[in-house]
Amino acid sequence: MSVRVRYAPSPTGHPHLGNIRTALFNFLFARHAGGEFVVRIEDTDRARLVEKSEDAILESLRWLGLTWDEGPDKGGPFAPYVQSERLESYQKAAQELVKKGFAYLCFCTQDRLAEMRKVQEAKHEPPRYDRQCLMLSSDDIRNSMDTNEPHVIRLKVPQEGKTVFEDAVRGHVEFENALLDDQVLLKSDGFPTYHLAVVVDDHAMNITHVIRAEEWISSTPKHLLLYQFFGWTPPTYAHVPMIMDAHKAKLSKRRGAKAMLEYRDAGYLPEVVVNYLSTLGWMHPNEEKLLTLDELAAAFTLEGIKKSPAVFDQRKMDWMNGLAIRQLTDEKLLIALDPFLDSGWDRHVVKKLIPLAKERMTTLKDFSVLCDFFFTNNIQKNESIMNQKIAVDKAQTFIRRYTSILASLTQWTHEELEQTTRKFAADHQLKPADFFMLLRIAFSGKTITPPLFESMVILGKDIVIQRLSEANFRC
Ligand code: GLU
Repeated sequence: MSVRVRYAPSPTGHPHLGNIRTALFNFLFARHAGGEFVVRIEDTDRARLVEKSEDAILESLRWLGLTWDEGPDKGGPFAPYVQSERLESYQKAAQELVKKGFAYLCFCTQDRLAEMRKVQEAKHEPPRYDRQCLMLSSDDIRNSMDTNEPHVIRLKVPQEGKTVFEDAVRGHVEFENALLDDQVLLKSDGFPTYHLAVVVDDHAMNITHVIRAEEWISSTPKHLLLYQFFGWTPPTYAHVPMIMDAHKAKLSKRRGAKAMLEYRDAGYLPEVVVNYLSTLGWMHPNEEKLLTLDELAAAFTLEGIKKSPAVFDQRKMDWMNGLAIRQLTDEKLLIALDPFLDSGWDRHVVKKLIPLAKERMTTLKDFSVLCDFFFTNNIQKNESIMNQKIAVDKAQTFIRRYTSILASLTQWTHEELEQTTRKFAADHQLKPADFFMLLRIAFSGKTITPPLFESMVILGKDIVIQRLSEANFRC
């Protein structure tokens, strides 16, 4: 049977790195095996839906090049790929379980359930349904149905035995059935819960392997009971280790994890994100080298997934991004930079700046941070030099004198400028580095720019002299 895997996000917000890593592992596994990668939107928890998050999920996958074979926008042999459009199949499945005696109707009100939970809490018992409705006679049930009493359908979990499975990552896993709750399968509004919908769809869509985050492992016994009750063969499960943040807490949006598309907008390269994500919980074959998706897929196996939690390290991703930027050819970098540049900026000047700025960039966005002063005279006026080495009143005099020397230069080359500037510093008993910084601030408004003399050459004599003449360190 050919491999079929799915990424099954719930559209409850913009996906973060951890969410997309699950998609990536599924994608790589499918491509490795020459199988299918399916995207299915799990939107049955209506209260948690967040508008536009489905778009953000698909856009994140597209940005990284994780193309899917079947999905909500694409269709496929098992369409639709959005759970809210498949309600009938879950309702039928729930009814089937009731008929077979593996599930039952529950008419308990929210108030009663809340009361029950309070009592359990007071007794320090785990919160679980007390099975009151399991005792209902068929007459009771008929009466409640006749009066249209709202009800849910619950899984009838066996009270004895264990549910056991071999996880492709974690190995042998077992859960005592007696500890499982009688999970709601179908809610009173006719929508399924995640547990019912995920099993019905994974079966209907011939999913062979479920690769998902470790947080779902405790749901797996419920899913396996469902497979057993339906008489279906379950898929292979692979629960991937969680990702922790720098504070050793689970990476989550609530704790400030960035949305995937924020990385795109901040100027990270998709190939860096893909490579960095594949180091999180998988044995990337060569962390020093950026591999293509095809190369990663060729190396990807479930055996290579690690058991221990991964730690997200922003600095490492930054380092990889800077390295990848420097490894791009100037032509490729120009293309990658395009969305980050003002449309009015002269691309010939951008081209000249690329080799200079490249060395100092961590993200694509850094280019404009470093170089915007080449394209506008409206520079931030001389950011405070109070913390610089040369006193403000002297700075003004030095720059005025230096400007008049520049004005008399007949050549405007790197060598000429360097010689003149070094001589000026020496003549005035200034450390070259101190005077260079003053000069940099005076014509760019910044303390970090591409190299000084190259920048002056590119700006041109007129502009440099104009900016220096206007420099005012007293403001
Ligand atoms: N809809 C679930 C989620 O949001 C999918 C879990 C699974 O892959 O089974 O992560």
